[in-house]
Amino acid sequence: MNNNIIVAIDGYSSCGKSTLAKALAKKLHYIYVDSGAMYRAVTLYFLRNNIDLTNHAQIEEALKNIHLNFHSRDYETHITLNDEEVSEEVRQMPVSEKVSAVAALKEVRREMVKQQQRMGKSKNIVMDGRDIGTAVFPHAPLKIFMTADPKIRAERRYNEIHAKNPEVTLEDIFENIAHRDYQDTTREESPLVRADDAIILDNTNITPEQQLQFALDKIEALKG
Ligand code: C5P
Repeated sequence: MNNNIIVAIDGYSSCGKSTLAKALAKKLHYIYVDSGAMYRAVTLYFLRNNIDLTNHAQIEEALKNIHLNFHSRDYETHITLNDEEVSEEVRQMPVSEKVSAVAALKEVRREMVKQQQRMGKSKNIVMDGRDIGTAVFPHAPLKIFMTADPKIRAERRYNEIHAKNPEVTLEDIFENIAHRDYQDTTREESPLVRADDAIILDNTNITPEQQLQFALDKIEALKG
């Protein structure tokens, strides 16, 4: 029997899931898995290869040619797509604009979920995404559903990426976040929804340190 611990963190776009997930993994020496990076890497491949999102045979074929790997040296996401480091590129706007449409495809979800479940088989992990507590690990002992004011989320993301991408405006980011939330919550295949047993964490007015402590307290209570 497996008795590894899985912490599932879901929530809206840019509301600090990865900040919390990384901090938790670091503190507890768990593996951190950024499931969004996987959907982003698939999207990058689809963009580069002009995959038609309505052509299911082409999508299936493309998925067979995609090999993703994480290299977690420092609790940051390092992901390779067919052995090419794409961690930076997958965070850029062209991918952000298309990722929710790609992530809505059932063939893509089926393959990503299978790979994610494999990662959680024998190790303690913290995984963040949109369907981790509902579809990937429905039996995770700790599920956190994160949310925050959309304006604050856009500002935080803007501050994060502005230095590297000065051409991107706050409005672009706000719209992208709103659009992805809409697509993620309304898609047919495992839409973003709070699992019944997930704890809500609204971090509009709390610091990263406070949210880390909140999650650590919940984990302590589990061990209790
Ligand atoms: O987490 P991040 O914002 O990088 O995720 C990018 C996109 O990937 C999300 O907007 C969503 O469309 C998709 N995603 C998903 N399921 C996950 C993680 C991400 O559908 N578990």
